[in-house]
Amino acid sequence: MGRVALVTGGTRGIGKAISVALKSAGHKVAANYAGNDKAAADFTAETGIPAYRWDVGDFHACQTGITAVAKDLGPIEILVNNAGITRDVMLHKMTPEQWDDVVRTDLTSLFNMCRHVIESMRERNFGRIINIGSINGQRGQLGQSNYCAAKSGLLGFTKALALESAKKGITVNALAPGYIDTDMVAAVPENVLNSIVAQIPLGRLGTAEEIAHCAVFLADDKTSFMTGATLTCNGAHYIAS
Ligand code: NDP
Repeated sequence: MGRVALVTGGTRGIGKAISVALKSAGHKVAANYAGNDKAAADFTAETGIPAYRWDVGDFHACQTGITAVAKDLGPIEILVNNAGITRDVMLHKMTPEQWDDVVRTDLTSLFNMCRHVIESMRERNFGRIINIGSINGQRGQLGQSNYCAAKSGLLGFTKALALESAKKGITVNALAPGYIDTDMVAAVPENVLNSIVAQIPLGRLGTAEEIAHCAVFLADDKTSFMTGATLTCNGAHYIAS
C-alpha cells in the first residue's frame, strides 16, 4: 500500500537512495535538504521527487516544512530521519560549535521532526519512523565524540519512542549503517579510509542502495512486529548482539 513518506537529507547520499527506493516501492515521497539547492534541483529533475529546504536542527522550521509537505502530499506516515553531519576532531581540540552543530543536526532533529508528526500518526493509528544511526554510535570512534554521542542518543530515543508508540500501530526503529560510499565518507582522508576498509570483513564500503533496501523493509506495512530495534548493515564491521 502506498504511503506518504518524508526523508530528511533525502536529496544526496544515503537519503537520496532511500527516497528513490521508497518511491519504487509505491510510496509518495518528499525529500528534505539543508542548503545545497543545486543538488536538490538535480535530484528532483532526475527522480521526480519534490524537495523541501529547511534545517532539521530548527524546531519551528521543521513544523513549517512538515506542514508544507502534508499540504502537498497528505499526512506523513513514514518518516526517515536521515539528515546528519560530522565535524570530526579530537575532544581536546573540539569547539563548542562543533559539538553543538552535530548534536543539533543528528540528535535534536529527531525531537524536532518526530514531535511534529507523532500526534497525527497516533490519531491515525499508523506510522513508521526510521532513524538512521551509525556503526560509530554503537562502538565509538576516535575524533567523533560529538557524532558518537548523538548517534548513541538516537538509539535511546528510538527505544523510548517505540515503547510510547507500541499500542498505536507506530513502529520506531534505528538503522545503523557501516561505512557507506557517499560524500560524507569521501571527506575522510584516503589513508584513513584505506585502513577502515581493511577492517571490513566484506572488504569494501557499502552502497547507499544497500542501506535503502533495509529502510524500505522497515517502512513496509508488513514489518509490524519489529519496533525499538536496531538493524545493522555494516559488512560485519561490527557485530552487535
Ligand atoms: P551526505 O553528506 O551524503 O548527505 C547529507 C544529506 O543531509 C544532504 O541531503 C544534506 O542536505 C542533508 N542535511 C545535512 N544537514 C541538514 C540539516 N541541518 N537539515 C536538513 N538536511 C540536512 O550524508 P550521508 O548520505 O553519508 O549520511 C546520511 C546519514 O547516514 C547521516 O545521518 C549519517 O550520519 C549516516 N551515516 C552515514 C554513513 C556513511 O558512511 N556515509 C555511515 C553511518 C551513518 P544538503 O544537500 O542541502 O547539504
